Amino acid sequence: MSRVIAIDGPSGAGKSSVSRRVGRELGFLHVDSGALYRIMTWQCLERGIDTSSPAAVAAFAPSVAVECRVEDGAIAYYVNGEPPGERIRMPEINANASQVATVPEVRARITAILRGLVAHGDLVVEGRDITTAVFPDSPARFYLTASAEARARRRQKEEIEKGIANQSAEAVKASLLARDKIDSTRKCAPLRKADGALEIDSSDMTLEQVVEAVLEALPADWRNDLA
Ligand code: C5P
Repeated sequence: MSRVIAIDGPSGAGKSSVSRRVGRELGFLHVDSGALYRIMTWQCLERGIDTSSPAAVAAFAPSVAVECRVEDGAIAYYVNGEPPGERIRMPEINANASQVATVPEVRARITAILRGLVAHGDLVVEGRDITTAVFPDSPARFYLTASAEARARRRQKEEIEKGIANQSAEAVKASLLARDKIDSTRKCAPLRKADGALEIDSSDMTLEQVVEAVLEALPADWRNDLA
């Protein structure tokens, strides 16, 4: 049976960096579930699907074929034989992804893809509903959060470093908060801290400290794999 570390939290809380590092320390594959929602959103926009229409998005969702491959300690996604790359990180995708993610048919499809990934081995999966809906029975569940200011600062730095966008901290914060609101108030699998998940507020913590806190809280025998 594959083991799953589940990490949820709002946008910009540091889930990706932490998950990648924890995965590397333990030899667990990193799974970015948000990328699947971004791919779905990107494909809707490419095909002119109205993302504000749940019926249109639900009808379109089954036609998006996503291939999952193991690459460099992570699950990499391919659409029509190509990796989507930074296209799915653009502000336009940020502005539409949460809307697309409210659609139950999209969530059911992506949940099935994520559960199927256990066939590839042990996983560290990050997202918004991993601890509550996708892998609620995992003994290693975390809710990673940080202040809105800290999250906006990190996201802005990342966007500039990657050459994705050059938005003000205020604009980045507004975009994060808008997504958080939709994500935490939607009917289907909203973002919330699961009962029994360990909450970590990373506002004043370094990446190393957060990784250490996650590793320390794992079931003792999982830590035997640490190098
Ligand atoms: O994690 P990331 O910011 O890339 O996710 C993009 C969007 O996908 C989120 O704002 C959220 O609406 C949606 N999402 C979700 N459930 C997940 C992961 C992401 O609804 N497990």
